[in-house]
Amino acid sequence: MDHFELKNGELYAENVPLARIAEEVGTPVYVYSRATLERHARVFREGLSVLPRVHCAFAVKANPNLAVLKVMQREGFGADVVSGGEMARALAAGMPAQDVVFSGVGKNARELAQGLEAGIGQFNIESEEEGVELAAIAAAKGLTASCALRVNPDVDAGTHEKISTGKAENKFGVPIDRAPGIYARLAAMPGLDMRGVAVHIGSQLSDLEPMERAFEKVGSLVSDLRGQGLTVTHVDLGGGLGVPYKAGEIMPSPAEYGAMIARVTKDWDVTLMFEPGRVIAGNAGILLTRVIRVKRSSNGPPFVIVDAAMNDLARPALYGSWHDFDAVKPRGGKMTANIVGPICETGDTFAMGREIDTMEAGDLAVFRTAGAYGATMASSYNSRGFVAEVMVDGDVYATVADRILPEDIYAAERVPDWLS
Ligand SMILES: *Cc1c(COP(=O)(O)O)cnc(C)c1O
Repeated sequence: MDHFELKNGELYAENVPLARIAEEVGTPVYVYSRATLERHARVFREGLSVLPRVHCAFAVKANPNLAVLKVMQREGFGADVVSGGEMARALAAGMPAQDVVFSGVGKNARELAQGLEAGIGQFNIESEEEGVELAAIAAAKGLTASCALRVNPDVDAGTHEKISTGKAENKFGVPIDRAPGIYARLAAMPGLDMRGVAVHIGSQLSDLEPMERAFEKVGSLVSDLRGQGLTVTHVDLGGGLGVPYKAGEIMPSPAEYGAMIARVTKDWDVTLMFEPGRVIAGNAGILLTRVIRVKRSSNGPPFVIVDAAMNDLARPALYGSWHDFDAVKPRGGKMTANIVGPICETGDTFAMGREIDTMEAGDLAVFRTAGAYGATMASSYNSRGFVAEVMVDGDVYATVADRILPEDIYAAERVPDWLS
């Protein structure tokens, strides 16, 4: 459930008409609903209330906007970060370092040192080599890193191949059958406190069954490790819960997810950690856009050319993803159209042959479910700059990220003397 609804024939974000935001901030613009973020955070936590000890860390890569992170921090969430930049953001948003989990397959020496110095709560180590490097950096500083070993359970998450992370051929984690040896070697190193294991098999999971299989494998691993006399106090079960991108689509609920986890983990006696991203932020944001013109085509549906493009919302071009597209002030009629952006790439296509509200030049429309992996994946391709982001809170809204103009970007570029 979200707070982007029609009232008197016009689309609102909570109690603010989207047309007002378009007028005052311009388009394209991302609009987030604070109430929706909070609702999702609470429903997620409620789903896990059947578990004894839980730590929730919002996956910053889904939406790193500082205001979004602040909402999550106020909801008691920590942060799952995958770069030094995301770590800095989480700390800037006021998340306690202890509540930050550092994931990522290619943390460099500088980032490992940054995490140690900040005192972050857990490093999710993705290879033996990374563990050895972290141990050396920590020992040299006289510090100890709390760590989990990320395992690759070789389970097909049944999601898009580009967001699948738990198959043997994916780059993430260590093969689960090699985990006991690696865990034992790392646990013996000064500088590391090996406290558990982590798993994350992919994103936009529409079925709990692959997760359950992965978690069962993790359960056996935990028993093996303890059987070897090793300590396991934490298990990080990652994120990945899917969201409905199409009206009426049904996804596993946080309550069903929690019930499955309670069943699988009942004998584990650990603190369970979670890293949800999309399920919190996805439906808490839309991309508001204006129709530039409607162009007839020779042999098919017309092209509805909008002012948002693949550089602003990359998911359709990257993964062929579907985003519902709705008029802000529906005229009542329907049309079949191809929805495209202005970028000079055929891939700059949001939908082909889609039945949508009737659109004319100048009309406003939204791409729904754009709160996760939306603004954060933007580029400045075609020198389009970066769109503004707005957060609505009841009757008010604030710009939470300024629009970055093409001239702001090229201001950082230099023509050397020997060319001028
Ligand atoms: C991306 C990612 C997440 C979040 O995934 P969602 O599908 O957005 O919940 C969690 N953990 C790790 C390690 C990730 O890379």
